[in-house]
Amino acid sequence: MFFHVLTLFPEMIMDGLDTSILGRAMEKGCIRAEAVNIRDYTLDKHQKVDDYTYGGGAGMLMQAQPVYDCTQAVIDRIQKDKLFQEQETASVRVIYVTPQGRVFNQQMAEEFAKEEDLIFLCGHYEGIDERALEEVVTDYVSIGDYVLTGGELPAMVMIDAIARLVPGVLNNDESAMTESFGNGLLEYPQYSRPQVWRKKEVPPVLLSGNHKLIEEWRLEKSIERTKERRPDLYEKWRAEHDHCK
Ligand code: SAM
Repeated sequence: MFFHVLTLFPEMIMDGLDTSILGRAMEKGCIRAEAVNIRDYTLDKHQKVDDYTYGGGAGMLMQAQPVYDCTQAVIDRIQKDKLFQEQETASVRVIYVTPQGRVFNQQMAEEFAKEEDLIFLCGHYEGIDERALEEVVTDYVSIGDYVLTGGELPAMVMIDAIARLVPGVLNNDESAMTESFGNGLLEYPQYSRPQVWRKKEVPPVLLSGNHKLIEEWRLEKSIERTKERRPDLYEKWRAEHDHCK
């Protein structure tokens, strides 16, 4: 999986992705990431990439030309690499991270994790000229109903969630499956050593060695927790379960 992030702040992306589990995954070659500076594609002699919005209003807007040329150059490069490796060329998904998109969730992460290349387009200031978006964007995705100053953090959030689903990124492939949302529920509570801490004991069933009982206990706790903390998820899970019976 190769993540291509188009941004005005490339160092922010590479510093953010180059650490911990994702950094190790890049070293191992399970994932690749690059940050492409949109400013490098401006035809303006002063390297300008933004201007006032037509119709008035506060703030500047990223202009269509550098965004379009940058995205097109990255798409062309991906397609050429595929041809060079004699692989089939398919259209590349271009995700514009925006508060005006579908709200990102685990299901979308799973869907995106099937792609070989993903392009993330990060806006700044008031956003991007609509005409460039119409030409290049395939998916409009938000990380939640609030407004941030730029698309870099949302892109990194999505890349983190997608990358951990790519085989080999997590040491134990199972853990992504058993985590929250893997089965439509929140994860059960977990405990580590010591067995007693501040007079609080680890639930005895977890020390029993009986895997069937442990599994049953965990499912019960997952259901309880989801019902209490995320009634919306619980109702969805219950409806699907009732349907399967
Ligand atoms: N004027 C835009 C609007 O009202 O929809 C908001 C622009 S915001 C200040 C600048 C950039 O940050 C956006 O172009 C987008 O790339 C990014 N951004 C801000 N909030 C976001 C969110 N909740 N999810 C994804 N991207 C976001």
